[in-house]
Amino acid sequence: MTEDKKHIRTLEKRKKIALIAHDNKKKDLIEWAIHNKLALSKHSLVATGTTGRLVEEALDQPVVKLLSGPLGGDQQIGAMIATGDIDVVFFFFDPMEAQPHDSDVKALLRLAVAWNLPMACDRTTADFLMTSRFMSDVYEYELPNYTHYLNRNI
Ligand code: PGA
Repeated sequence: MTEDKKHIRTLEKRKKIALIAHDNKKKDLIEWAIHNKLALSKHSLVATGTTGRLVEEALDQPVVKLLSGPLGGDQQIGAMIATGDIDVVFFFFDPMEAQPHDSDVKALLRLAVAWNLPMACDRTTADFLMTSRFMSDVYEYELPNYTHYLNRNI
């Protein structure tokens, strides 16, 4: 039996961070971002449209703004996770209100887990993640091995 090749992914010191907040959580995310302004300035930021605009204004730091979440932005983030173009996700989703794009939200969350990505979905976890020494260091981790799935007999 041949041993499967390990797939290692390296996150550089400067992380590619994705920011998304549902409307009821935008205030929380902006406050948190201002509190972490210096730390965030060391990374590159990408966000769904409205969140990105607000973060950019609050931090005076360029943010790559995708489409608004319900208009495809969540799916764009999901695709970037799958292609390795995002390293860390801060997604303040609203657990108390149904979203019109619930399926997109679910897809984003699923892809982050499928690719073993660090992700914080509330402010406390965001604080823990942001203060991790791995945020300012190179970090290597093993990607889930999907070889068996890709080579399945069909
Ligand atoms: P928005 O999208 O930043 O464009 O408001 C967030 C979301 O996914 O609902």
